[in-house]
Order: sequence, then C-alpha cells, then structure tokens
Amino acid sequence: MFEKQTILLATHNTNKTKEYRELLNGYPYEIIDLNDIDFHLPIDEKYDTYHENARVKVEAVAKVYNGIIVGDDSGFEIAALDYQPGVHSARFLSHLSYPEKNDYIIKELEKHQDRSCAFVCALACFYDEKIWITVNRCFGEVAKKREEGHGFGFDPIFVPLGYTQPFSVLDPAIKNKISHRALAVQALIHYLENLP
Ligand code: IMP
Repeated sequence: MFEKQTILLATHNTNKTKEYRELLNGYPYEIIDLNDIDFHLPIDEKYDTYHENARVKVEAVAKVYNGIIVGDDSGFEIAALDYQPGVHSARFLSHLSYPEKNDYIIKELEKHQDRSCAFVCALACFYDEKIWITVNRCFGEVAKKREEGHGFGFDPIFVPLGYTQPFSVLDPAIKNKISHRALAVQALIHYLENLP
C-alpha cells in the first residue's frame, strides 16, 4: 500500500478544495486546506500577474507550515475586451451576479467578431524550500447565449475549443480533463512524482 502524501491547499474556499480533490482522485495525495490548520490570516492577492498571486499564497503559508503547499490564481481572458477581466476576474463587476456578468459579456461581444477567450490557472507549489510554478490556459470561445447547468463563474458562457457546448453543460469529466486547472494539476503531479 502506498502512503499518501499531504498537500495543503493555500485556500479557505471549500469549493476549490473539492475541485482539487476530484482532480487528484486516484493519486497518492490527501488534500487539506487552510481551514484544517486554523490559518485565518488574510492573503492579499495584490499583484497583476497570476503567477505572483499564486506565489504569494504559498509563501504566506510556508511561514507556518512545513510540507507540500499548493496555491493557485485563476482568471478569464477575453481577447476582444483587451483580455479583461483577466487576473482581476474575481472582482470584475462585483456589484453584479454571475448570470448578470455573463449576460453583460455576451452583450459586449455583439460589437466584436472575435469571440476567442481563455481560462487561466497559475499554480505554485512550495516544498523543501523551493517554489515551482506552472501557468496554463484552456482556450475557447464566448458562447452566443448563456446556458446554466453545473460549474460556477464564467462556465455558462465558456465553450472550449473542439466543443459546441459550454463547460456548464458538458460532462464535468470533460472539464476535469481539459480545463486550465486540470492542466495545472497534471503538471503538478509530474513535478511531485519527479522530485529527487
Ligand atoms: P481566484 O482564482 O479565486 O482568484 O478566482 C478567479 C475567478 O476567475 C473566479 O472567481 C471566476 O470568476 C473565474 N474563474 C476561474 N476559474 C474558473 C472556472 O473554472 N470556471 C468559471 N470561472 C472561473
């Protein structure tokens, strides 16, 4: 029997923890998060790049925890809107609900030919005094209409390349294979498996 290694996720967001547990299902890692170690200090995502925001999360936690720490930062980039909302996606049009934000984006894109967009995920891993970072994109197109279903955030309007339906409608197993976060986790597994 393999012993499972513990990965501490630098997040309080239990949805994120759940998603990482699904992505790492079948691999020899046990996932815990900041709620499990009673870490309640705020971590300021103050940078304008995904990789710096991912790094600041793992560095903050490394001050009080010794082991594998993983932190991420993600966003949604729309080419025709100057790659907005980008790294500031979590705060984009914060007075609106996600259905309203998604409708706003669809309306904006009526003025443009180019519907190309991408989800981005930077993932940082702090272990053994070293920081390793990977940045991954899942490319797609903004849908012409919003389709609610499963998932969250911009999933109802993101149609990944090679598909005709948004992530919210596609089988979650597809998102767990091709998404920005899935690619980052695949890279992480490769990194951890090849540590000296
Ligand atoms: P953060 O990584 O917690 O800073 O969140 C970034 C924001 O990007 C989220 O709040 C969502 O608005 C958006 N986002 C990131 N990944 C996804 C995804 O997989 N589906 C839908 N929206 C996402």
